[in-house]
Amino acid sequence: MRAMVYRGPYKVRVEEKVMPPIEHPNDAIVRVTLAAICGSDLHLYHGMMPDTRVGMTFGHEFIGVVEQVGSSVQNLKVGDRVMVPFNVYCGSCYFCVRGLYSNCHNVNPNATAVGGIYGYSHTCGGYDGGQSEYVRVPFADVGPSIIPDWLEDEDALMCTDALATGYFGAQLGDISEGDTVVVFGAGPVGLFAAKSSWLMGAGRVIVIDHLEYRLEKARTFAHAETYNFAEYDDIVVEMKKATDYLGADVVIDAVGAEADGNFTQHVTAAKFKLQGGSPIALNWAIDSVRKGGTVSVMGAYGPMFSAVKFGDAMNKGLTLRMNQAPAKRQWPRLFEHIQNGYLKPNDIVTHRIPLEHIAEGYHMFSAKLDDCIKPVIVPGA
Ligand code: NAD
Ligand code: ZN
Repeated sequence: MRAMVYRGPYKVRVEEKVMPPIEHPNDAIVRVTLAAICGSDLHLYHGMMPDTRVGMTFGHEFIGVVEQVGSSVQNLKVGDRVMVPFNVYCGSCYFCVRGLYSNCHNVNPNATAVGGIYGYSHTCGGYDGGQSEYVRVPFADVGPSIIPDWLEDEDALMCTDALATGYFGAQLGDISEGDTVVVFGAGPVGLFAAKSSWLMGAGRVIVIDHLEYRLEKARTFAHAETYNFAEYDDIVVEMKKATDYLGADVVIDAVGAEADGNFTQHVTAAKFKLQGGSPIALNWAIDSVRKGGTVSVMGAYGPMFSAVKFGDAMNKGLTLRMNQAPAKRQWPRLFEHIQNGYLKPNDIVTHRIPLEHIAEGYHMFSAKLDDCIKPVIVPGA
């Protein structure tokens, strides 16, 4: 089969790979019909996440058709059209029964924090992902759901991560009626977080980025006020001015491991460490929220991001909430909002790229070329 393969930082290729076999009676093999590239994949692509091994296939956002099922699988059959949340999880451990699917204890023996994520390095369990023609789906009775007939493929695809994560980011913000919510990052996660914030009662939503075309999308898609941080000496001061010098009630970090304040494309982990391991957007978030406010961190960080303004957070009495999103937990609410017309998830999809051209897709999405917001990958195209 054809699959995206990681060959080192900034190097991905499409290669011939052996079809994944059923390894356990709980497994299913899914023929991928659509996948997406996520901002999280860029952290791998940039070499920012530990234990990202050459030869791995990325891709934790995918939908497809069940090709084969293991002997104990009961809820799926060959031919079912399925959406698969980005988390790999068992459904029955201490964490899963509490809804913490992204912290499953049974899928990632090496980890103390995160559970399993498809195509997301050996730090997250070493599972190959779905930027591929076929993918092995463990615990097939737990994660995947049959896609309802009324739900279109690209909308289902957005629910596997980006939309579920944006919505979860707003949920963790614990937004009260009338709150001012500031979202750092106008990528797919930030756009969906901004859009979701209104659903939770926000009175004002502000989105910050430095890419004008994405801020335009934040205005039209998420009806947000926008600030281009590159136009201000200090975006934190601007946020203070915008909030009567109180700070925002809730700030959502939808940026994560952006390593380089100059936004050049060739960042290395070593260079980042030399800069002191300071996550720019997260520290801006801590500085922009009011005393007693909440910072919801959806941006993904690896262990090298250590210089967080923890003292400031403590003295401001902040609530910091964060996690990899347990994507499937959000689906029932997302389905309601899609069905009632409030959310049209594939409005943010800008590119549809054949799997064979995925390297160009990574480059474009990483360098933010051609007004790219969300690239979808089409195997077999
Ligand atoms: P993306 O790369 O498309 O978007 C990130 C945006 O942040 C870009 O538009 C970039 O210009 C902007 N940006 C960079 N530095 C900034 C700064 N200092 N202030 C404001 N904006 C800044 O990525 P995405 O797909 O939207 O993902 C966003 C983050 O969410 C990533 O870190 C990703 O790993 C993470 N993520 C987390 C989860 C989760 O479960 N928690 C799930 C999916 C994605
Ligand atoms: Zn993702």
